[in-house]
Amino acid sequence: MEFAVDLQPAHVRFGVGARELLPEECDRLGVGRVLLVCTPSGAARYRTVADALGSRLVATFAEAEPHCPEPVVERCRALWRSAGADGVVTVGGGSTIGLGKILTAEERAKFVCIPTTYSGSEMTDIFGRKIGREKRTARNPACRAHTVLYDPELTLGLPRHETVTTGMNSLAHAVEALYPPLPNPVAFVIAREALRAHRDGLPGAAANPTDIDARSQALYGGFLGGLLVGMTGIALHHRLCHVLGGLFDLPHGETNSVVLAHVVAYNAAAAPEAARAISDVFGDVEPARAIDAFARRIGAPTSLREIGMPEDGVDAVVKETLARGGWNPRAPDEASLRELVRAAWDGQRPQIHATSEANRIT
Ligand code: NAD
Repeated sequence: MEFAVDLQPAHVRFGVGARELLPEECDRLGVGRVLLVCTPSGAARYRTVADALGSRLVATFAEAEPHCPEPVVERCRALWRSAGADGVVTVGGGSTIGLGKILTAEERAKFVCIPTTYSGSEMTDIFGRKIGREKRTARNPACRAHTVLYDPELTLGLPRHETVTTGMNSLAHAVEALYPPLPNPVAFVIAREALRAHRDGLPGAAANPTDIDARSQALYGGFLGGLLVGMTGIALHHRLCHVLGGLFDLPHGETNSVVLAHVVAYNAAAAPEAARAISDVFGDVEPARAIDAFARRIGAPTSLREIGMPEDGVDAVVKETLARGGWNPRAPDEASLRELVRAAWDGQRPQIHATSEANRIT
């Protein structure tokens, strides 16, 4: 047996009411003065987190925005400094977490992260900011959260659309971890578990936002998905989504929702073990059909057209994606990639190429 695995440390606590562990975690990290970071709507929503911090809370920055625009970063940094904080607590999704990562990497903050979406940023060492119109991302282990507290109760208010799109983003992390560039049996096992958690959690969370069991499964899947990005990186699916986001400013969860089934179809024959795992978990001999049906069932967007991509943008997407290179189990070529992007733009069902006998579920 031969494999490669990167394990990245973070202290994780998961469970209903986990926010009550904040004082304990602050003590453990030696944090006495906390800057709380959230989005504008988060300040009211997460009052129980502020309450749990008690007198440790010295300031709140409630201006987080997607992609961490530089002016937002600088206002947050100024508050961090003027408040004399030694720790940052973020409560919210990736937009909020991004600010915590920047303060941790650049201001040496101790970072307690409380994620409330499923996109998984809290478990990665990837962070970005937007300078002008350009988004710059970097990897830096120094940006990692020291503690991550997952409290499903704090996700009960996540709107249906964000539930579904951040969930599909996480499902895509799990799918891509099934076929890493180097064999990784540890990631494979975790990825199957992440698929199962989302299969069991997302439909209930989308249909009934206050279903705490469904919310717990989806948040667990989000955690595993984030962990997997750190372990195995990304492949064609995420590269395509990054290109779509960069060229047309399309939101990440939405592009993930549309593109995933098409990429699963594209890769199925070249990654038979991954295809079989998806088929097994979702109970359909065709993995792409399974993902497509799942996305439609939970109400995810299914065409690039509906989320704002212009029809004449297909060639630019193909060109830019091919130029980026990078790992994928099936090397993409211009003609087949154009077909894929065109079908995704149009909202077609994924093109099933061939069903491998080995892929039949037993
Ligand atoms: P988000 O943080 O932008 O949140 C989406 C919306 O949902 C916001 O309006 C927010 O206020 C609201 N919201 C969040 N939690 C809520 C709750 N519990 N109840 C009610 N409303 C709630 O969403 P996201 O998709 O998690 O993050 C997107 C950002 O994260 C992007 O900038 C993306 O690039 C980045 N990201 C980074 C990584 C990484 O590894 N670095 C991974 C995924 C996403």
